[in-house]
Amino acid sequence: MRKFAIVSKDDKESASISREIQKELFNSGLSYADSEPDIVCVVGGDGTFLSAIHKHIKRLDSVIFSGINTGTLGFFTDYTSDEVDQYIDDILNREPEIEKKRLLRIKTRGETNKNYLAVNEMRIENVIRTLIIDIMINDRKLETIRGTGLCICTQAGSTAFNRSLKGAIVEPGLDIMELTEIAGIHHSIYRSLEAPIILSGDKKLKLCGDFDESTLLCFDRFAINMKGVREVECYLSDKTVSLAHFRPIDYIDRLYHLF
Ligand code: NAP
Ligand code: MN
Repeated sequence: MRKFAIVSKDDKESASISREIQKELFNSGLSYADSEPDIVCVVGGDGTFLSAIHKHIKRLDSVIFSGINTGTLGFFTDYTSDEVDQYIDDILNREPEIEKKRLLRIKTRGETNKNYLAVNEMRIENVIRTLIIDIMINDRKLETIRGTGLCICTQAGSTAFNRSLKGAIVEPGLDIMELTEIAGIHHSIYRSLEAPIILSGDKKLKLCGDFDESTLLCFDRFAINMKGVREVECYLSDKTVSLAHFRPIDYIDRLYHLF
């Protein structure tokens, strides 16, 4: 591990911590390489961590990620802002435990075909008019849902938007996708499963609907207008992101400190 980069949140505290990390790692013989680092140090929150991963999405096989949290909570970050010295020391002197998280592959078909990767989740959302979406799992129809939209998350994303939708939190190590409805309509005429459903990692979801320019395909920190999209395919990719844990933190402890 010779080359490092820093991705920082845009606030004073994060900038100051970033400068300190940069100075100390540089003085210890590592070189700063913004475009092709071996390790990316993230200073910020889980959102900043997502940005760092997307910045290096084309070279996830040759980079590891580790971070300090200057925000409210951290599922991707292992250190708090008062542990900067420990963080630097651990990077220089410890071998990290690597945790690989599988990413979600999202393929749109229609007027043009596009391909995206997500760490947390993908969502199809329309806050203006009711969406009607047919959900196919491995080419078998599960249901038609009506409502504001749906969310499909990974294990990593289960504590993010999915949690606000009352989806289940899923422990690391389980290769799954979880599907939840967003403000589903349920009454005597329209019904759907309603409950979140957790699927094994080898399933392929296909989502078909009449999408227009007021429908958004959101994934992690991005949002794309769905005009011209006929269907979306979504499955767990073989691509993984490597999280470097220099000081492994128990998942139950992370959950405990969430509230
Ligand atoms: P944001 O609006 O700052 O994120 C909302 C919250 O989600 C922040 O507290 C963020 O943590 C947290 N978060 C992100 N990934 C997480 C994860 N894997 N586990 C637990 N919490 C997580 O937007 P952002 O920072 O760009 O992050 C994008 C993500 O935010 C999206 O992928 C989506 O999951 C989530 N989000 C959630 C809601 C909601 O729950 N209603 C609404 C919008 C977005 P930090 O403060 O540490 O960044
Ligand atoms: Mn954020």
